[in-house]
Amino acid sequence: MTHDYRASRRRFLASAGALATGAAAAAASPALAQGAATNGSPAAPPAGKLPYLISRSTDTLLPRGKVPRVVICGGGWGGVTAAKYLRQLVPHLEVVLLERNPVFFSCPMSNKWLVDVVETQFLTHDYLGVSEKYGYRFIQTEILEIERDRKQVITAAGGLHYDYLILSPGIRYNYETWFANDRRMAEATRARFPAAYIPSAEHFHLKRALQDFKGGHLVMTLPPPPQRCPPSPYERACLIASMFRNKKIPGKITILDHKDGVRPIGPGFKSAFEELYKDIITYVPNARVEEIDPFKKHIRTEAGDFDFDHAILMAPHQAGDLAWKAGVVPPVGGKPGGGWADVDPFFLHDRKDKDVYVIGDAVGFVSDHFAYYPKAGHVANRHARIVAYYIAEREAGREPAYRLPDNLCFMMVDSNPQVGISVKFDYKVNDKGVIEQTQIDFNERKPETVGEDFNWARTIYEDMFA
Ligand SMILES: Cc1cc2nc3c(=O)[nH]c(=O)nc-3n(C[C@H](O)[C@H](O)[C@H](O)COP(=O)(O)OP(=O)(O)OC[C@H]3O[C@@H](n4cnc5c(N)ncnc54)[C@H](O)[C@@H]3O)c2cc1C
Repeated sequence: MTHDYRASRRRFLASAGALATGAAAAAASPALAQGAATNGSPAAPPAGKLPYLISRSTDTLLPRGKVPRVVICGGGWGGVTAAKYLRQLVPHLEVVLLERNPVFFSCPMSNKWLVDVVETQFLTHDYLGVSEKYGYRFIQTEILEIERDRKQVITAAGGLHYDYLILSPGIRYNYETWFANDRRMAEATRARFPAAYIPSAEHFHLKRALQDFKGGHLVMTLPPPPQRCPPSPYERACLIASMFRNKKIPGKITILDHKDGVRPIGPGFKSAFEELYKDIITYVPNARVEEIDPFKKHIRTEAGDFDFDHAILMAPHQAGDLAWKAGVVPPVGGKPGGGWADVDPFFLHDRKDKDVYVIGDAVGFVSDHFAYYPKAGHVANRHARIVAYYIAEREAGREPAYRLPDNLCFMMVDSNPQVGISVKFDYKVNDKGVIEQTQIDFNERKPETVGEDFNWARTIYEDMFA
């Protein structure tokens, strides 16, 4: 009897995905039983071949099934929410979530973690339990390419076909603005003075640097809009300043803001700078970066030159690499792209391909009124639920009606005593068919806002992981 190695290998690789969704499913899999040796011991791969469950990017990661498949690229705030809601709304779909990190690390609340207000456990969440509970496949792998013409995603562990694709890749740092194609400068900047705006290695580096900081000048460069979570750099500055004050560290912080003023919650942050950290924080508007030298620790901006002992260097943000590889980011300079995904503002799909959705921070221009949705975890969570509903409607043979997100953001401005400020956004469509944004800033520092912040975080983590 001849042995079809490749077919049996494919069956094994399919089982690898099933393993990620739980041992019970894998144990019941006839594919796994077929692969087992007849003497009851584990099957050995043919001589000279890799063990069955080690796969290459050229392998088939999951064979095509009988039901439509949604592949979600990126298991951050958008991706993980989309996986759960899709399984709840459309149980007949096969849902596959691809993510490079083994553990979810939350950027929201991470400023509090940097200064020891919350522990690591508060920010981290397990992918395996939730994927098993809701019956989607979580596969930890690097996504390498997206072949739109073949409806395939290529990962380090093999390729898989999709019927619907959801891209939630987050952001990339546009170091090209500072260093053009000088990779060495970009890598040195990220390694020595990371922004800590992409989870999670950079956050650990920054936390260690802050713990080791004995005093001196800490500089923060803020990116131009649109950027991930616009108020959070100001929150970070306030919380680091409160740590300096509480621990009596002789540190000074200079915020070099590309913008001409603090936004959002400007009056709230400015009164915190002036009333709580007058001797620690200096705020410099219109400080567009012209040159950075991470080796000499020097920055030249339109507002002057600055030397630093340590720095948090935030290059401009753009849609994550994957969005570019998927071809949803139009050429920079071409309207309305600018480095973000060009999607239908109401239905969040690629303008030319209804089977490819983009959610979360990568989403580009959506409105002449406010341009971009705030790049917030709350919005990514809402986008995910909305797109899950759109796919559910399409699967039921109905045209979906558009839905819009909302947004809430709480910022702690002092860690002792703990007080916060916040901002709220709502959206509606005006009589010209344009999406309109209403923004309400809550500038008064209040302890109750901190309670609301923790409630928000617990509720939304639960929405994604419980
Ligand atoms: C300091 C800070 C504070 C913040 N505070 C708040 C807040 O209070 N409230 C709020 O709403 N938002 C906040 N945010 C913003 C929030 O973190 C983002 O808006 C949110 O993470 C966006 O979700 P996303 O799914 O678009 O991207 P992400 O959550 O970044 O998810 C993208 C995922 O894609 C994965 N990925 C990318 N490329 C690949 C690849 N090639 N292969 C495999 N996996 C890949 C990444 O590993 C990542 O897990 C804050 C952000 C920061 C940095």
